Amino acid sequence: MSLPSNTSATEVLIAGAGPTGLVLAIDLARRGVRHRIVDRSERGFPGSRGTGIQPRSQEVLDDLGAIDALWAAGGPCPLVQIWEGTTRVGEQRIVAPAEPSPGVPYDEVLMIPQWRTVEILTARLEELGGRVEFGTELTGFDHDADGVTATLRDAGGAEQTVRAEYLVAADGGRSTVRKALGVAFTGEQVDPRPVLIADVIVEGELLDRDHWHMWPRAKGGILALRPLENVETYQVMASFADTSYEPDPARDATPEALARLISERSGHPGVRTGEVRWASVYRARAAMAERFRTGRVLLAGDAAHVHSPAGGQGLNTSLQDAYNLGWKLGAVLRLGAPDALLDTYDTERTRVAADVLRLSTSVHQADRAAGNGPSLRGRETHQLTLNYRESPLTREMRRDLPEGALRAGDRAPDAPCVDASGTAVRLFDAFRGPHFTLLAVGDTECTAPDAAWVRTYRVGGGPADLLDTEGHAKAAYGSGLFLIRPDGYVGLATDDPADVAAYLARVAG
Ligand SMILES: Cc1cc2nc3c(=O)[nH]c(=O)nc-3n(C[C@H](O)[C@H](O)[C@H](O)COP(=O)(O)OP(=O)(O)OC[C@H]3O[C@@H](n4cnc5c(N)ncnc54)[C@H](O)[C@@H]3O)c2cc1C
Repeated sequence: MSLPSNTSATEVLIAGAGPTGLVLAIDLARRGVRHRIVDRSERGFPGSRGTGIQPRSQEVLDDLGAIDALWAAGGPCPLVQIWEGTTRVGEQRIVAPAEPSPGVPYDEVLMIPQWRTVEILTARLEELGGRVEFGTELTGFDHDADGVTATLRDAGGAEQTVRAEYLVAADGGRSTVRKALGVAFTGEQVDPRPVLIADVIVEGELLDRDHWHMWPRAKGGILALRPLENVETYQVMASFADTSYEPDPARDATPEALARLISERSGHPGVRTGEVRWASVYRARAAMAERFRTGRVLLAGDAAHVHSPAGGQGLNTSLQDAYNLGWKLGAVLRLGAPDALLDTYDTERTRVAADVLRLSTSVHQADRAAGNGPSLRGRETHQLTLNYRESPLTREMRRDLPEGALRAGDRAPDAPCVDASGTAVRLFDAFRGPHFTLLAVGDTECTAPDAAWVRTYRVGGGPADLLDTEGHAKAAYGSGLFLIRPDGYVGLATDDPADVAAYLARVAG
Protein backbone atom coordinates (compact mmCIF):
# COMPACT_ATOMS: atom_id res chain seq x y z
CA MET A 1 0.00 0.00 0.00
CA SER A 2 1.43 3.46 -0.81
CA LEU A 3 0.94 6.12 1.83
CA PRO A 4 1.22 9.92 1.54
CA SER A 5 4.75 11.25 2.13
CA ASN A 6 3.70 13.05 5.34
CA THR A 7 2.68 9.76 6.98
CA SER A 8 4.03 9.09 10.46
CA ALA A 9 3.87 5.81 12.34
CA THR A 10 2.83 4.92 15.84
CA GLU A 11 1.69 1.82 17.68
CA VAL A 12 -1.62 3.07 19.09
CA LEU A 13 -3.59 6.08 17.90
CA ILE A 14 -6.17 7.30 20.41
CA ALA A 15 -8.96 9.52 19.09
CA GLY A 16 -10.32 11.62 21.95
CA ALA A 17 -8.73 12.91 25.15
CA GLY A 18 -11.67 12.63 27.53
CA PRO A 19 -11.33 10.44 30.63
CA THR A 20 -11.22 7.25 28.50
CA GLY A 21 -8.50 8.33 26.09
CA LEU A 22 -6.41 9.87 28.86
CA VAL A 23 -6.50 6.78 31.09
CA LEU A 24 -5.45 4.65 28.14
CA ALA A 25 -2.64 7.05 27.19
CA ILE A 26 -1.34 7.08 30.78
CA ASP A 27 -1.36 3.29 30.93
CA LEU A 28 0.38 2.96 27.56
CA ALA A 29 2.95 5.62 28.53
CA ARG A 30 3.97 3.70 31.63
CA ARG A 31 4.24 0.53 29.53
CA GLY A 32 6.51 2.24 27.02
CA VAL A 33 4.00 1.72 24.19
CA ARG A 34 4.32 4.38 21.48
CA HIS A 35 1.06 6.18 21.04
CA ARG A 36 -0.53 9.43 19.92
CA ILE A 37 -3.60 10.93 21.53
CA VAL A 38 -5.49 13.61 19.63
CA ASP A 39 -8.48 15.72 20.59
CA ARG A 40 -10.36 18.10 18.37
CA SER A 41 -11.06 20.56 21.20
CA GLU A 42 -8.61 23.39 21.78
CA ARG A 43 -8.00 22.74 25.48
CA GLY A 44 -9.97 19.73 26.68
CA PHE A 45 -13.54 19.31 27.85
CA PRO A 46 -14.79 22.43 29.71
CA GLY A 47 -17.88 21.11 31.56
CA SER A 48 -18.63 19.57 34.95
CA ARG A 49 -20.69 16.67 33.47
CA GLY A 50 -19.50 13.39 35.07
CA THR A 51 -18.71 14.34 38.64
CA GLY A 52 -18.86 11.13 40.69
CA ILE A 53 -15.76 8.91 40.75
CA GLN A 54 -16.72 5.54 42.20
CA PRO A 55 -14.57 3.57 44.69
CA ARG A 56 -13.42 1.07 42.04
CA SER A 57 -12.34 3.85 39.69
CA GLN A 58 -10.42 5.45 42.54
CA GLU A 59 -8.42 2.23 42.86
CA VAL A 60 -7.64 2.43 39.15
CA LEU A 61 -6.61 6.08 39.45
CA ASP A 62 -4.46 5.22 42.47
CA ASP A 63 -2.61 2.65 40.37
CA LEU A 64 -2.14 5.26 37.64
CA GLY A 65 -0.73 7.83 40.06
CA ALA A 66 -3.54 10.37 39.86
CA ILE A 67 -5.67 9.76 42.95
CA ASP A 68 -3.98 12.18 45.35
CA ALA A 69 -4.34 15.08 42.93
CA LEU A 70 -7.98 14.18 42.33
CA TRP A 71 -8.85 14.04 46.03
CA ALA A 72 -6.95 17.32 46.59
CA ALA A 73 -9.16 19.00 43.97
CA GLY A 74 -12.41 17.20 44.79
CA GLY A 75 -14.32 16.16 47.88
CA PRO A 76 -16.88 13.77 49.33
CA CYS A 77 -20.46 13.68 48.13
CA PRO A 78 -22.53 16.27 50.04
CA LEU A 79 -25.91 15.52 51.57
CA VAL A 80 -28.89 16.38 49.42
CA GLN A 81 -31.05 19.22 50.72
CA ILE A 82 -34.62 18.77 49.55
CA TRP A 83 -36.64 21.95 49.15
CA GLU A 84 -40.29 22.80 48.53
CA GLY A 85 -40.02 26.35 47.32
CA THR A 86 -38.19 28.26 50.04
CA THR A 87 -38.77 25.63 52.73
CA ARG A 88 -36.15 23.04 53.56
CA VAL A 89 -38.09 19.78 53.88
CA GLY A 90 -35.40 17.20 54.47
CA GLU A 91 -31.83 16.12 54.12
CA GLN A 92 -30.78 12.82 52.63
CA ARG A 93 -27.78 10.81 51.56
CA ILE A 94 -27.62 10.06 47.84
CA VAL A 95 -24.97 7.30 47.86
CA ALA A 96 -24.55 4.47 50.38
CA PRO A 97 -20.93 4.30 51.56
CA ALA A 98 -19.00 1.08 51.09
CA GLU A 99 -18.77 -1.15 54.13
CA PRO A 100 -15.44 -0.15 55.74
CA SER A 101 -13.12 -3.10 55.24
CA PRO A 102 -9.37 -3.76 54.98
CA GLY A 103 -10.03 -4.88 51.40
CA VAL A 104 -11.49 -1.54 50.26
CA PRO A 105 -9.19 1.48 50.58
CA TYR A 106 -11.66 3.95 49.04
CA ASP A 107 -15.10 3.66 50.55
CA GLU A 108 -16.89 6.77 49.32
CA VAL A 109 -17.59 8.47 46.05
CA LEU A 110 -15.21 11.28 45.09
CA MET A 111 -16.96 14.31 43.64
CA ILE A 112 -15.03 16.43 41.18
CA PRO A 113 -16.05 18.27 38.00
CA GLN A 114 -15.16 16.38 34.85
CA TRP A 115 -13.12 19.26 33.40
CA ARG A 116 -10.89 19.10 36.48
CA THR A 117 -10.51 15.30 36.13
CA VAL A 118 -9.51 15.81 32.51
CA GLU A 119 -7.02 18.52 33.52
CA ILE A 120 -5.44 16.28 36.19
CA LEU A 121 -5.21 13.26 33.89
CA THR A 122 -3.67 15.43 31.19
CA ALA A 123 -1.03 16.63 33.68
CA ARG A 124 -0.36 13.03 34.78
CA LEU A 125 0.17 11.99 31.18
CA GLU A 126 2.64 14.83 30.76
CA GLU A 127 4.54 13.69 33.88
CA LEU A 128 4.99 10.35 32.15
CA GLY A 129 6.32 12.05 29.03
CA GLY A 130 3.10 11.95 26.99
CA ARG A 131 1.17 14.81 25.43
CA VAL A 132 -2.32 15.42 24.12
CA GLU A 133 -2.38 16.89 20.63
CA PHE A 134 -5.24 19.33 21.09
CA GLY A 135 -6.91 21.02 18.13
CA THR A 136 -6.39 17.83 16.12
CA GLU A 137 -9.37 15.96 14.73
CA LEU A 138 -9.49 12.46 13.32
CA THR A 139 -11.46 12.96 10.12
CA GLY A 140 -11.26 9.54 8.48
CA PHE A 141 -9.47 6.22 8.42
CA ASP A 142 -9.02 2.95 6.56
CA HIS A 143 -8.24 -0.29 8.31
CA ASP A 144 -6.74 -3.57 7.16
CA ALA A 145 -5.38 -6.74 8.73
CA ASP A 146 -2.17 -5.06 9.94
CA GLY A 147 -3.32 -1.67 11.11
CA VAL A 148 -5.08 1.59 10.50
CA THR A 149 -4.31 4.57 8.31
CA ALA A 150 -5.94 7.67 9.74
CA THR A 151 -6.27 11.25 8.56
CA LEU A 152 -5.80 13.99 11.15
CA ARG A 153 -6.68 17.64 10.57
CA ASP A 154 -5.37 20.47 12.74
CA ALA A 155 -7.22 23.66 13.62
CA GLY A 156 -5.64 25.46 10.64
CA GLY A 157 -6.98 22.79 8.26
CA ALA A 158 -3.61 21.11 7.61
CA GLU A 159 -3.88 17.36 7.17
CA GLN A 160 -1.49 14.55 8.01
CA THR A 161 -1.69 10.78 7.72
CA VAL A 162 -0.85 8.41 10.55
CA ARG A 163 -0.26 4.71 10.27
CA ALA A 164 -1.01 2.91 13.56
CA GLU A 165 -1.12 -0.73 14.56
CA TYR A 166 -4.32 -0.06 16.48
CA LEU A 167 -6.86 2.76 16.61
CA VAL A 168 -8.81 3.29 19.83
CA ALA A 169 -11.98 5.32 19.45
CA ALA A 170 -12.41 7.25 22.69
CA ASP A 171 -14.26 9.97 20.84
CA GLY A 172 -17.45 10.10 22.88
CA GLY A 173 -21.10 9.18 22.40
CA ARG A 174 -21.30 10.62 18.88
CA SER A 175 -18.14 8.73 17.89
CA THR A 176 -17.03 9.48 14.34
CA VAL A 177 -15.08 6.24 14.33
CA ARG A 178 -18.02 4.06 15.39
CA LYS A 179 -20.22 5.61 12.72
CA ALA A 180 -17.57 5.18 10.04
CA LEU A 181 -17.23 1.51 10.98
CA GLY A 182 -20.99 1.12 10.68
CA VAL A 183 -21.19 -0.61 14.06
CA ALA A 184 -24.79 -0.59 15.29
CA PHE A 185 -25.46 1.44 18.43
CA THR A 186 -28.76 0.29 19.82
CA GLY A 187 -30.70 1.13 22.91
CA GLU A 188 -33.58 3.14 24.22
CA GLN A 189 -34.52 6.51 25.52
CA VAL A 190 -34.66 6.26 29.30
CA ASP A 191 -36.54 9.50 29.83
CA PRO A 192 -38.21 11.77 27.26
CA ARG A 193 -37.76 14.87 29.43
CA PRO A 194 -34.98 17.16 28.20
CA VAL A 195 -32.41 18.34 30.76
CA LEU A 196 -30.52 21.63 30.66
CA ILE A 197 -27.17 21.43 32.45
CA ALA A 198 -24.88 24.40 33.08
CA ASP A 199 -21.89 25.47 35.19
CA VAL A 200 -22.67 28.91 36.50
CA ILE A 201 -21.81 31.30 39.30
CA VAL A 202 -24.87 31.79 41.54
CA GLU A 203 -24.67 34.87 43.73
CA GLY A 204 -26.47 35.87 46.89
CA GLU A 205 -27.45 34.22 50.15
CA LEU A 206 -29.77 31.65 48.58
CA LEU A 207 -27.72 28.51 48.98
CA ASP A 208 -25.11 27.13 51.31
CA ARG A 209 -22.21 25.30 49.69
CA ASP A 210 -22.47 22.26 51.98
CA HIS A 211 -25.42 20.67 50.24
CA TRP A 212 -26.59 19.44 46.89
CA HIS A 213 -29.83 21.41 46.61
CA MET A 214 -32.86 19.86 44.90
CA TRP A 215 -36.40 20.93 44.19
CA PRO A 216 -37.93 17.61 43.03
CA ARG A 217 -41.49 18.98 42.79
CA ALA A 218 -40.77 22.36 41.26
CA LYS A 219 -43.33 23.60 38.76
CA GLY A 220 -42.05 22.99 35.26
CA GLY A 221 -39.60 20.26 36.25
CA ILE A 222 -36.90 19.18 38.71
CA LEU A 223 -34.20 21.68 39.64
CA ALA A 224 -30.88 20.67 41.18
CA LEU A 225 -27.97 22.92 42.14
CA ARG A 226 -24.70 21.39 43.25
CA PRO A 227 -21.79 23.51 44.45
CA LEU A 228 -18.75 22.27 42.55
CA GLU A 229 -15.66 21.44 44.55
CA ASN A 230 -13.06 24.17 45.05
CA VAL A 231 -14.49 26.51 42.42
CA GLU A 232 -17.15 29.20 42.66
CA THR A 233 -19.53 27.61 40.15
CA TYR A 234 -22.61 25.45 40.70
CA GLN A 235 -23.74 22.66 38.42
CA VAL A 236 -27.33 23.50 37.56
CA MET A 237 -29.56 20.75 36.20
CA ALA A 238 -33.12 21.54 35.19
CA SER A 239 -35.37 18.98 33.59
CA PHE A 240 -38.47 20.01 31.66
CA ALA A 241 -41.75 18.21 32.32
CA ASP A 242 -42.91 19.38 28.89
CA THR A 243 -41.20 16.72 26.78
CA SER A 244 -41.82 18.64 23.57
CA TYR A 245 -39.71 21.57 24.77
CA GLU A 246 -36.32 21.81 23.05
CA PRO A 247 -34.01 23.73 25.40
CA ASP A 248 -31.32 25.73 23.66
CA PRO A 249 -28.24 26.71 25.68
CA ALA A 250 -27.86 29.91 23.63
CA ARG A 251 -31.32 31.00 24.79
CA ASP A 252 -31.90 29.13 28.06
CA ALA A 253 -28.42 29.22 29.59
CA THR A 254 -27.61 32.92 29.53
CA PRO A 255 -26.98 34.34 33.05
CA GLU A 256 -30.37 36.11 32.92
CA ALA A 257 -32.32 33.07 31.72
CA LEU A 258 -30.74 30.83 34.36
CA ALA A 259 -31.42 33.37 37.12
CA ARG A 260 -35.06 33.48 36.02
CA LEU A 261 -35.35 29.70 35.89
CA ILE A 262 -33.78 29.25 39.35
CA SER A 263 -36.00 31.97 40.84
CA GLU A 264 -39.16 30.52 39.34
CA ARG A 265 -38.50 26.94 40.37
CA SER A 266 -37.02 27.64 43.81
CA GLY A 267 -39.38 30.43 44.76
CA HIS A 268 -36.40 32.55 45.81
CA PRO A 269 -36.79 35.97 44.20
CA GLY A 270 -33.79 37.98 43.13
CA VAL A 271 -31.40 35.12 42.34
CA ARG A 272 -28.35 36.56 40.57
CA THR A 273 -26.13 34.53 38.32
CA GLY A 274 -22.69 35.38 37.00
CA GLU A 275 -20.59 33.87 34.29
CA VAL A 276 -21.86 30.70 32.60
CA ARG A 277 -18.78 28.54 32.05
CA TRP A 278 -20.43 25.70 30.15
CA ALA A 279 -23.94 24.57 29.18
CA SER A 280 -25.46 21.64 27.35
CA VAL A 281 -28.70 19.73 26.87
CA TYR A 282 -29.37 16.00 26.96
CA ARG A 283 -32.15 13.43 27.11
CA ALA A 284 -31.17 10.35 29.11
CA ARG A 285 -30.70 7.27 27.01
CA ALA A 286 -29.04 3.88 27.29
CA ALA A 287 -27.32 2.43 24.25
CA MET A 288 -24.33 0.32 23.40
CA ALA A 289 -22.34 -0.74 20.38
CA GLU A 290 -22.99 -4.27 19.17
CA ARG A 291 -19.26 -4.99 19.40
CA PHE A 292 -16.28 -3.14 20.84
CA ARG A 293 -13.69 -4.57 18.45
CA THR A 294 -13.63 -4.48 14.66
CA GLY A 295 -10.26 -5.80 13.51
CA ARG A 296 -7.65 -3.21 14.45
CA VAL A 297 -10.17 -0.68 15.76
CA LEU A 298 -11.41 -0.72 19.34
CA LEU A 299 -14.27 1.30 20.80
CA ALA A 300 -14.02 2.50 24.40
CA GLY A 301 -15.94 4.72 26.81
CA ASP A 302 -18.96 6.65 25.60
CA ALA A 303 -18.07 5.66 22.03
CA ALA A 304 -19.04 2.14 23.07
CA HIS A 305 -21.91 2.78 25.52
CA VAL A 306 -23.93 5.69 26.88
CA HIS A 307 -25.94 5.71 30.09
CA SER A 308 -28.36 7.80 32.04
CA PRO A 309 -26.27 9.98 34.36
CA ALA A 310 -28.30 8.61 37.30
CA GLY A 311 -26.04 6.56 39.53
CA GLY A 312 -22.82 8.04 38.14
CA GLN A 313 -21.71 5.08 36.03
CA GLY A 314 -20.74 6.45 32.59
CA LEU A 315 -17.34 7.98 33.20
CA ASN A 316 -16.45 5.18 35.59
CA THR A 317 -17.29 2.43 33.15
CA SER A 318 -15.47 4.36 30.45
CA LEU A 319 -12.20 4.70 32.26
CA GLN A 320 -12.33 1.05 33.29
CA ASP A 321 -12.70 0.10 29.62
CA ALA A 322 -9.41 1.87 29.02
CA TYR A 323 -7.81 0.16 31.99
CA ASN A 324 -8.89 -3.26 30.68
CA LEU A 325 -7.55 -2.45 27.24
CA GLY A 326 -4.22 -0.86 28.24
CA TRP A 327 -2.50 -3.94 29.59
CA LYS A 328 -3.79 -6.10 26.74
CA LEU A 329 -2.41 -3.73 24.11
CA GLY A 330 0.84 -3.67 26.09
CA ALA A 331 0.94 -7.49 26.19
CA VAL A 332 0.34 -7.78 22.43
CA LEU A 333 2.76 -5.02 21.44
CA ARG A 334 5.51 -5.63 24.01
CA LEU A 335 5.29 -9.20 25.32
CA GLY A 336 4.36 -11.09 22.17
CA ALA A 337 0.85 -12.01 23.29
CA PRO A 338 -1.44 -13.17 20.48
CA ASP A 339 -3.65 -10.52 18.93
CA ALA A 340 -6.61 -12.67 20.05
CA LEU A 341 -6.01 -11.41 23.60
CA LEU A 342 -7.73 -8.22 22.43
CA ASP A 343 -10.88 -10.21 21.68
CA THR A 344 -11.22 -10.63 25.44
CA TYR A 345 -11.51 -6.84 25.73
CA ASP A 346 -14.69 -7.11 23.69
CA THR A 347 -16.00 -10.13 25.61
CA GLU A 348 -15.29 -8.74 29.05
CA ARG A 349 -16.33 -5.14 28.53
CA THR A 350 -19.50 -5.73 26.48
CA ARG A 351 -20.81 -7.84 29.38
CA VAL A 352 -19.90 -5.21 31.94
CA ALA A 353 -21.40 -2.42 29.82
CA ALA A 354 -24.68 -4.30 29.43
CA ASP A 355 -24.91 -4.81 33.21
CA VAL A 356 -24.01 -1.22 33.99
CA LEU A 357 -26.52 0.07 31.46
CA ARG A 358 -29.25 -1.90 33.22
CA LEU A 359 -28.09 -0.51 36.57
CA SER A 360 -28.07 3.14 35.39
CA THR A 361 -31.51 2.74 33.88
CA SER A 362 -32.91 1.17 37.06
CA VAL A 363 -31.48 3.99 39.22
CA HIS A 364 -33.01 6.52 36.82
CA GLN A 365 -36.40 4.79 37.03
CA ALA A 366 -36.21 4.58 40.83
CA ASP A 367 -35.59 8.35 40.97
CA ARG A 368 -38.58 8.94 38.72
CA ALA A 369 -40.81 6.67 40.75
CA ALA A 370 -39.75 8.30 44.04
CA GLY A 371 -40.75 11.73 42.77
CA ASN A 372 -39.75 13.46 46.00
CA GLY A 373 -35.98 13.33 45.67
CA PRO A 374 -33.29 10.98 44.44
CA SER A 375 -33.33 7.32 45.45
CA LEU A 376 -30.40 6.03 47.50
CA ARG A 377 -27.67 4.68 45.22
CA GLY A 378 -26.74 1.27 46.63
CA ARG A 379 -23.30 -0.28 46.92
CA GLU A 380 -23.60 -1.93 43.52
CA THR A 381 -22.95 1.54 42.03
CA HIS A 382 -19.41 1.49 43.50
CA GLN A 383 -18.40 -1.02 40.82
CA LEU A 384 -16.39 -3.06 43.34
CA THR A 385 -18.36 -6.23 42.68
CA LEU A 386 -18.05 -6.19 38.88
CA ASN A 387 -16.14 -9.30 37.90
CA TYR A 388 -14.83 -11.32 34.98
CA ARG A 389 -15.75 -14.78 36.33
CA GLU A 390 -17.27 -15.75 32.99
CA SER A 391 -14.35 -14.48 30.90
CA PRO A 392 -12.38 -16.85 28.66
CA LEU A 393 -9.28 -15.37 30.35
CA THR A 394 -10.32 -16.55 33.81
CA ARG A 395 -9.07 -19.81 35.29
CA GLU A 396 -10.48 -21.07 38.58
CA MET A 397 -8.71 -24.38 39.18
CA ARG A 398 -9.71 -25.06 42.81
CA ARG A 399 -12.67 -27.23 43.72
CA ASP A 400 -15.28 -27.17 46.47
CA LEU A 401 -14.86 -23.54 47.36
CA PRO A 402 -17.06 -22.37 50.21
CA GLU A 403 -19.99 -20.06 49.52
CA GLY A 404 -18.83 -16.46 49.28
CA ALA A 405 -15.16 -17.35 48.65
CA LEU A 406 -13.07 -15.14 46.38
CA ARG A 407 -12.94 -16.72 42.93
CA ALA A 408 -10.86 -16.22 39.81
CA GLY A 409 -12.41 -13.34 37.89
CA ASP A 410 -13.15 -11.29 41.01
CA ARG A 411 -11.57 -7.96 41.82
CA ALA A 412 -8.41 -8.67 43.82
CA PRO A 413 -9.00 -7.12 47.25
CA ASP A 414 -6.52 -5.02 49.18
CA ALA A 415 -5.13 -6.08 52.57
CA PRO A 416 -2.77 -4.39 55.02
CA CYS A 417 0.43 -6.42 55.61
CA VAL A 418 3.99 -5.65 56.75
CA ASP A 419 7.26 -6.41 55.00
CA ALA A 420 10.29 -8.15 56.54
CA SER A 421 11.52 -4.85 58.03
CA GLY A 422 8.18 -4.28 59.73
CA THR A 423 7.10 -1.49 57.36
CA ALA A 424 3.38 -1.37 56.56
CA VAL A 425 2.73 -2.50 52.98
CA ARG A 426 -0.69 -2.97 51.44
CA LEU A 427 -1.36 -5.56 48.77
CA PHE A 428 -2.34 -2.62 46.56
CA ASP A 429 1.21 -1.28 46.98
CA ALA A 430 2.43 -4.62 45.61
CA PHE A 431 -0.06 -4.47 42.71
CA ARG A 432 0.70 -0.84 41.80
CA GLY A 433 2.39 -0.66 38.38
CA PRO A 434 2.00 -2.29 34.97
CA HIS A 435 3.03 -5.83 36.04
CA PHE A 436 1.17 -9.03 36.89
CA THR A 437 1.41 -10.03 40.55
CA LEU A 438 1.62 -13.61 41.77
CA LEU A 439 0.46 -13.99 45.36
CA ALA A 440 1.22 -17.22 47.18
CA VAL A 441 -1.06 -17.03 50.19
CA GLY A 442 -0.63 -19.51 53.04
CA ASP A 443 1.64 -22.53 52.68
CA THR A 444 1.21 -23.13 48.94
CA GLU A 445 4.40 -24.08 47.08
CA CYS A 446 5.51 -21.39 44.69
CA THR A 447 8.37 -20.72 42.28
CA ALA A 448 8.64 -17.17 41.04
CA PRO A 449 8.10 -17.08 37.25
CA ASP A 450 11.15 -15.99 35.30
CA ALA A 451 9.59 -12.92 33.73
CA ALA A 452 10.31 -9.30 34.60
CA TRP A 453 6.63 -8.43 34.13
CA VAL A 454 5.50 -10.73 36.94
CA ARG A 455 6.23 -9.90 40.57
CA THR A 456 5.88 -12.65 43.14
CA TYR A 457 5.04 -12.27 46.82
CA ARG A 458 4.72 -14.98 49.43
CA VAL A 459 2.07 -13.75 51.82
CA GLY A 460 1.64 -15.33 55.24
CA GLY A 461 3.83 -16.21 58.18
CA GLY A 462 7.35 -17.66 58.29
CA PRO A 463 9.72 -16.69 55.45
CA ALA A 464 7.15 -14.56 53.65
CA ASP A 465 7.75 -11.40 51.61
CA LEU A 466 4.64 -9.88 53.14
CA LEU A 467 3.62 -10.83 56.66
CA ASP A 468 -0.09 -11.16 57.08
CA THR A 469 0.11 -10.18 60.74
CA GLU A 470 -3.59 -9.52 61.18
CA GLY A 471 -4.79 -12.27 58.85
CA HIS A 472 -6.56 -9.90 56.46
CA ALA A 473 -4.96 -11.37 53.32
CA LYS A 474 -5.88 -14.91 54.39
CA ALA A 475 -9.40 -13.82 55.22
CA ALA A 476 -9.85 -12.18 51.82
CA TYR A 477 -8.10 -14.75 49.60
CA GLY A 478 -8.08 -18.06 51.47
CA SER A 479 -4.96 -19.96 50.49
CA GLY A 480 -3.45 -20.82 47.14
CA LEU A 481 -1.73 -19.14 44.21
CA PHE A 482 -3.44 -16.06 42.82
CA LEU A 483 -2.26 -14.43 39.64
CA ILE A 484 -3.45 -10.85 39.66
CA ARG A 485 -3.86 -9.20 36.28
CA PRO A 486 -2.43 -5.70 35.79
CA ASP A 487 -5.98 -4.33 35.98
CA GLY A 488 -6.47 -5.77 39.46
CA TYR A 489 -8.58 -8.88 38.79
CA VAL A 490 -7.71 -12.43 39.76
CA GLY A 491 -6.87 -14.10 36.43
CA LEU A 492 -5.93 -17.50 37.86
CA ALA A 493 -6.55 -19.15 41.21
CA THR A 494 -4.95 -22.53 41.77
CA ASP A 495 -3.05 -24.77 44.17
CA ASP A 496 -0.78 -26.11 41.43
CA PRO A 497 2.30 -24.04 40.43
CA ALA A 498 2.27 -25.66 36.95
CA ASP A 499 -0.95 -23.77 36.16
CA VAL A 500 0.86 -20.45 36.55
CA ALA A 501 3.28 -21.06 33.69
CA ALA A 502 0.46 -22.24 31.43
CA TYR A 503 -1.59 -19.15 32.20
CA LEU A 504 1.30 -16.76 31.61
CA ALA A 505 2.03 -18.40 28.26
CA ARG A 506 -1.53 -17.59 27.19
CA VAL A 507 -1.29 -13.90 28.01
CA ALA A 508 2.23 -13.32 26.77
CA GLY A 509 2.74 -15.74 23.90
C1 LIG B 1 -25.23 15.37 32.96
C2 LIG B 1 -24.25 14.25 33.00
C3 LIG B 1 -23.81 13.81 34.24
C4 LIG B 1 -22.95 12.73 34.30
N1 LIG B 1 -22.54 12.29 35.52
C5 LIG B 1 -21.72 11.21 35.61
C6 LIG B 1 -21.22 10.75 36.89
O1 LIG B 1 -21.53 11.30 37.96
N2 LIG B 1 -20.38 9.69 36.89
C7 LIG B 1 -20.04 9.06 35.74
O2 LIG B 1 -19.34 8.04 35.79
N3 LIG B 1 -20.42 9.54 34.52
C8 LIG B 1 -21.24 10.58 34.42
N4 LIG B 1 -21.62 11.05 33.19
C9 LIG B 1 -21.09 10.42 31.96
C10 LIG B 1 -19.69 10.92 31.59
O3 LIG B 1 -19.68 12.31 31.41
C11 LIG B 1 -19.20 10.21 30.30
O4 LIG B 1 -19.42 8.83 30.45
C12 LIG B 1 -17.70 10.47 30.02
O5 LIG B 1 -17.50 11.78 29.59
C13 LIG B 1 -17.17 9.52 28.94
O6 LIG B 1 -15.82 9.82 28.69
P1 LIG B 1 -15.17 9.58 27.25
O7 LIG B 1 -13.73 9.94 27.40
O8 LIG B 1 -15.51 8.23 26.76
O9 LIG B 1 -15.92 10.59 26.28
P2 LIG B 1 -15.95 12.17 26.28
O10 LIG B 1 -15.76 12.69 27.65
O11 LIG B 1 -17.15 12.57 25.52
O12 LIG B 1 -14.64 12.58 25.47
C14 LIG B 1 -14.54 12.40 24.07
C15 LIG B 1 -13.44 13.32 23.56
O13 LIG B 1 -13.24 13.03 22.19
C16 LIG B 1 -13.03 14.23 21.48
N5 LIG B 1 -13.39 13.96 20.08
C17 LIG B 1 -14.62 13.67 19.59
N6 LIG B 1 -14.53 13.39 18.27
C18 LIG B 1 -13.21 13.51 17.93
C19 LIG B 1 -12.50 13.33 16.71
N7 LIG B 1 -13.11 12.97 15.57
N8 LIG B 1 -11.16 13.54 16.71
C20 LIG B 1 -10.52 13.91 17.86
N9 LIG B 1 -11.16 14.08 19.05
C21 LIG B 1 -12.49 13.87 19.07
C22 LIG B 1 -13.91 15.25 22.18
O14 LIG B 1 -13.44 16.57 21.97
C23 LIG B 1 -13.79 14.80 23.64
O15 LIG B 1 -12.77 15.48 24.34
C24 LIG B 1 -22.50 12.12 33.09
C25 LIG B 1 -22.92 12.59 31.86
C26 LIG B 1 -23.80 13.63 31.80
C27 LIG B 1 -24.28 14.12 30.46
